[in-house]
Amino acid sequence: PGGQDEEVGKAQRAAAAGEDAGGQPTIFSKIIARSVPATILYEDDKCLVFRDVAPQAPVHFLVIPKRPIPRISRVGPQDTELLGHLLVVAARTAQAEGLADGYRLVINDGKHGAQSVYHLHLHVLGGRQLGWPPG
Ligand code: IMP
Repeated sequence: PGGQDEEVGKAQRAAAAGEDAGGQPTIFSKIIARSVPATILYEDDKCLVFRDVAPQAPVHFLVIPKRPIPRISRVGPQDTELLGHLLVVAARTAQAEGLADGYRLVINDGKHGAQSVYHLHLHVLGGRQLGWPPG
């Protein structure tokens, strides 16, 4: 019961309904707790990096804080150091993934940003030429 597909489906339905889980645990909390499997690329006491289950580019991974901030529009001054850390980890992991020709960092926020999982995450996409503007 409660397989990975079911969890992804739940997140997508929540997004379609425009729901903000309001700090409730998401599938990313379960990945942090290791109760849902993921391909983990890096971990430290503040963050976790794992491959996106539905990659939109040859390399697509997510950088998340272990503390479950729901979305970027909810951060405050107390999060400055953590957010900087996430960016540094994203850049270092992109280098380790061989993205020497560049890559894109994306943070989706809320309904208009098409956020589907309400646990803050940075997308890192690369390994092909990306277009601009995004859809
Ligand atoms: P958002 O639309 O910016 O919220 O992105 C959420 C991302 O999480 C999407 O790219 C999903 O493919 C990804 N995702 C959802 N569930 C999982 C999972 O269980 N493992 C890895 N990635 C996931």
